[in-house]
Amino acid sequence: MSVRWGLIGASTIARQFMIDAIRAQGNGEIAAVMSSSPERATAYAGENNIPLAVSTLDALLGADIDAVYISTTNELHLEQALAAIKTGKHVLCEKPLALTSADARKMVAAARAAGIVLGTNHHLRNAGAHRAMRDAIAAGRIGKPIAARVFHSVYLPENLQGWRITRPEAGGGVVLDITVHDADTLRFVLGDDPVEVSCFTQSAGMAGSGLEDGAMCIWRFKSGVIAQSHEGFTTKFAGTGFEVHGSEGSLIASNVMTQKPVGSVMLRTARGEEQLSFDHDDLYTRSMHQFHAAIRGEGQPSATGDDGIWSLASAEAALQSASSGKAVKIDPKLGSMN
Ligand code: NDP
Repeated sequence: MSVRWGLIGASTIARQFMIDAIRAQGNGEIAAVMSSSPERATAYAGENNIPLAVSTLDALLGADIDAVYISTTNELHLEQALAAIKTGKHVLCEKPLALTSADARKMVAAARAAGIVLGTNHHLRNAGAHRAMRDAIAAGRIGKPIAARVFHSVYLPENLQGWRITRPEAGGGVVLDITVHDADTLRFVLGDDPVEVSCFTQSAGMAGSGLEDGAMCIWRFKSGVIAQSHEGFTTKFAGTGFEVHGSEGSLIASNVMTQKPVGSVMLRTARGEEQLSFDHDDLYTRSMHQFHAAIRGEGQPSATGDDGIWSLASAEAALQSASSGKAVKIDPKLGSMN
């Protein structure tokens, strides 16, 4: 059975990763693309060999498609996802799922009621490095996890220095862009949920309109693990990493907070140091593989709608903490959907 996709948004992420990820599935086809601008839709379709270009959501949802991939700016995700769900299309939505966790809950509840698959495109869960860390922790190789540190401050490439640093109403800012990923990756690797966050943000010279382009968070998890994360748009030379320190060992991963299947993971214990081996499969292709399987009724997307609610509730709490100067409890209110 082939899966015919409609792209909602003539975006950079679709062009750089997701179009290839869909076409890498034996049965994945891109049937149409929608842009709010007819000219951009036509140009994008031409450049990416997509047979149909449309400029309204109705036209896209009326096309012969099974699923949509939403990668517009963040304020549009809610309305577009709800419309797609209404027409019975499966939805893979970019993070953050919406601007508020309350809106994300509406999307997830609608998908559940309609019996369609909704996934959140948290690519980092699909990285071999993060899966190797999760497996090592679950197997007890570092003993009892105590603390984690996430280094995810990067330099926002010039071609992406648009809405993320100028448009609060579109969900700009580094917290909705990168902290959501860090909250999700911490949950995934630790197999634990964050319950509280304290956050400082800054405007270090790139973002305007009151938006933050740097953030440091301290997280407390259900098990008692504490974590710190650093997200930024303005550090050209920082490098990325992810560490988890336990009673019997430490996992130290370098260059793993990235879109590429790269980096290394070292396990250090009383026995010495060991480089963990892991697969280097493309992250987005794996995400799409899991999504196609979920459509067939085999398992779930690598990050579900509930995972998207969790990451957004975490980022939301971080923003509330930054503006109030206080630690904020994280509550995704998942119970209220059932
Ligand atoms: P882009 O800025 O490339 O695209 C977002 C929207 O901007 C498009 O839908 C398009 O609107 C509009 N746009 C694009 N190019 C132009 C242009 N030249 N002139 C005017 N408007 C333009 O954003 P990204 O691809 O970086 O991000 C899109 C979404 O994906 C966001 O939700 C983001 O958070 C997420 N993302 C996720 C990543 C991941 O790894 N999971 C990585 C990067 C982004 P229209 O469709 O109407 O043409």
